[in-house]
Amino acid sequence: MTSDKQERHKTRMQRKKEVVDNAIESADRDQGLLLVLTGNGKGKSSSAFGMLARALGHGMHVGVAQFIKGRSDTGEEGFFSRQPNVTWHVLGEGFTWETQNLDRDIETARRGWAIASEMLRDPAISLVVLDELTYPIKYGWLAVETVLEDIAARPSMQHVVITGRAAPQALIDAADTVTELSDVKHAFRAGVRAQKGIDL
Ligand code: ATP
Ligand code: MG
Repeated sequence: MTSDKQERHKTRMQRKKEVVDNAIESADRDQGLLLVLTGNGKGKSSSAFGMLARALGHGMHVGVAQFIKGRSDTGEEGFFSRQPNVTWHVLGEGFTWETQNLDRDIETARRGWAIASEMLRDPAISLVVLDELTYPIKYGWLAVETVLEDIAARPSMQHVVITGRAAPQALIDAADTVTELSDVKHAFRAGVRAQKGIDL
């Protein structure tokens, strides 16, 4: 490399470092965050469980509420629900895709939310994952206003992660961090069924 090129590279990197350092310095607050992971791409729930592992690694207490999914035998439930400091609820049992009994679905969702919102009142829980919460909202079983009220009233340092496709706008507006995962390619469409360790 010519010394001229090296010099230009150095100047550019110095400028970049200044920008990054300034950005880091001006973000000087701590607060409980609301994160929304949405979109059609794979990686929403697994990202939430990645944060769960991080929090546990710091000795924090965590809570998970899984909506929709019936009695599951996912790897994350098998692993995390047996760890200390983890409260794990599967709240999807009883949602009636087949019978389409709206009253019953609303009642199931209401009971589920009562359990989930208990975690949102518990200051000992530092991170709450509300996995697939967008679905009961989307199907009209759970009012987004109720959800947002309880989230807003949570302990100020508690973090909340919500996953699920098609997050309602009100949820996105209320969130601090929103990521939309896009579906570029998925093995399922090439005929590969869900694989243990990757998909469940
Ligand atoms: P993951 O749990 O793998 O992070 P996710 O939470 O982003 O996935 P969900 O919509 O909850 O996605 O779907 C859960 C299951 O469906 C997983 O087994 C996942 O691999 C699979 N899946 C996710 N996205 C797609 C897709 N675009 N096409 C087909 N299957 C998908
Ligand atoms: Mg998911």
